Amino acid sequence: MNQKYYLVSEHMFVIFVLEFIYKFRNSNMGRKEIERTVHKPPLFKVFKPTGVAGNILEEVVLSIDEYESIRLVDYCKHSHEEAADEMSISRPVFTKMLEKARYKLSTLLVRGALLKIDGGNFHFKNNIMKCLKCEQLFEIEMDKQIVECPNCGNVNIMNIAGAYGHGRCCINNNKRRL
Ligand SMILES: [Zn+2]
Ligand SMILES: [Zn+2]
Repeated sequence: MNQKYYLVSEHMFVIFVLEFIYKFRNSNMGRKEIERTVHKPPLFKVFKPTGVAGNILEEVVLSIDEYESIRLVDYCKHSHEEAADEMSISRPVFTKMLEKARYKLSTLLVRGALLKIDGGNFHFKNNIMKCLKCEQLFEIEMDKQIVECPNCGNVNIMNIAGAYGHGRCCINNNKRRL
């Protein structure tokens, strides 16, 4: 076997073993693997450059777990270790995901593209409710509900996690994590 190939494969093997140990530790001794944790749902689903029709723009989809990696490191200034811990994944997996997410954002700036934030392998820890009258946002625990806006009394409240197709699955996931 040539020397270079041997070094690469040895490196891959070490990463493989570390990820296996981490997954096994996190899987609660072989139980179903816990999915990535996203602290709260993103508020905006679509970004678009001005002056170009949406239908001729290239479309870039950032998954919600990729969005969370950008939020934790670039916006909240967490280290990769802290962010990986927050999302319940290993540091190498986190860093790979962050690099992918940053590359996607760079294509928006350089080539101009329509960005959609959706999908991914994750559950939300908390939810955000938005009053559709006064636009006030309320961050609440996943298993709580707001039926009337505490600010203006309006009953038209938008469930943001629900708009991404999440809710009961996240409550169950949070229970598994306790
Ligand atoms: Zn309100
Ligand atoms: Zn969920």
